[in-house]
Amino acid sequence: MPFNKLGLYSSIVRAVTAKGYGEPTPIQQQAIPVVLSGRDLIASAQTGTGKTAAFALPILNRLGPHKLPSPRVLVLEPTRELAAQVDEAFREFGQFTDLKTALIHGGVGYGAQRNALHKGSDIVVATVGRLMDFLQERALRLDNLQVLVLDEVDRMLDMGFINDVKTIVSLCPKKRQTLFFSATVPPEIDAVARFALSDPIRISIGRARSVNESVTHAIYPVSQGLKFSLLVALLEKTNFNSVLVFTRTKHGADKIALRLKEAGHTVAVLHGNRSQGQRTAALKGFKDGQYEVMVATDIAARGIDVAGVSHVINYDVPMTPDDYVHRIGRTGRAAAVGDAFTLMTPQEANDVRGIERFIKATIPQLKLDGFDYKAHPPAASAGESDFRGGRRQGGQGRGRSQGGGGGGGRGGRPGAAHHPKGKPGGHWQSGGRH
Ligand code: AMP
Repeated sequence: MPFNKLGLYSSIVRAVTAKGYGEPTPIQQQAIPVVLSGRDLIASAQTGTGKTAAFALPILNRLGPHKLPSPRVLVLEPTRELAAQVDEAFREFGQFTDLKTALIHGGVGYGAQRNALHKGSDIVVATVGRLMDFLQERALRLDNLQVLVLDEVDRMLDMGFINDVKTIVSLCPKKRQTLFFSATVPPEIDAVARFALSDPIRISIGRARSVNESVTHAIYPVSQGLKFSLLVALLEKTNFNSVLVFTRTKHGADKIALRLKEAGHTVAVLHGNRSQGQRTAALKGFKDGQYEVMVATDIAARGIDVAGVSHVINYDVPMTPDDYVHRIGRTGRAAAVGDAFTLMTPQEANDVRGIERFIKATIPQLKLDGFDYKAHPPAASAGESDFRGGRRQGGQGRGRSQGGGGGGGRGGRPGAAHHPKGKPGGHWQSGGRH
């Protein structure tokens, strides 16, 4: 069913067309009529499925013209990057309306955000910590709220925000519409849903355990000492637009980024120890194509939408199968084709088996043609020690500073020093790079 048959006003459909969307995705087809009807909704849906438009379009439709003084819609997001992305989506989809949005998140000054709230916005997109600050200083009132969106609730739970989320829910008017999105709905998330929702319609698009079908994925077994060399060789041999490299630790991300810069790549870094300025610059530079590689911890794995990520490379096997699905979801979004590769040392083989059981598929194991698997490891092997002592990022508890990072460098692309150049593996040539 096309967008113009879903009951949306022409001003909204026009914006969707301007954005270049053809057909609604399955979650949009299912969720838009429910949201338009005013019912509560609990949707289990992965990011990359089009869920932002699934709630933003019908919400904009329901609001009518701009009204003062306090917001009628509040969208809660777990990270600043996601909040910024969702705010931008509301602005784009609402470009032919007079509705106003405000973006509220930590890591930057309070002044501009306080002013935006003071002027009056119909829609507020916020992270939890900064929103709590504004609620406490009464810069924001929720009395006129009509729609509350709790997005990526499983992530909020991981990050330790659930009690604050409950506090915010209890400050909202009882008579409201609540939309609840979570990739998975285990019992503890279901308990939050029961607390926040009233007689909801449930939608599950059933992809939480599966990797995106448009992504080709593969495991590259390698010894720990040659891991970085293999990463460089893979980058050398692929025809990529932009590559996201995931590590388990912030320190590992920094080290790998540094060595990739030394190898001539333009590199951004995104992780929790960076300032908000660095973090914004990293993501913007990566999105704009200024950096060809972004090295990130799992903070970047969920929800971040960068058009044209052609490859995801797991430098370290993710700690949980769930993280694997999320990391891989950064490529092949909305039906573009992407490739996802995981470097696996013998110590990581068990984790890979766990991932395969979880996604109910065997991931093909490949060797890179021409790479010298018997070479002596170079003296400095980036990230090695980090993996051995590696701990998972992301569940750092209550954080007003949902961290991130940035940085980068420029340079040409000299050949990698340590390995012979060989014929590119067929796999690298297979995917059309979008
Ligand atoms: P989301 O899951 O909301 O983060 O969306 C993932 C990506 O899919 C974003 O780049 C959206 O702009 C894109 N997208 C969402 N809906 C559609 C659609 N109906 N057609 C094409 N692309 C879409």
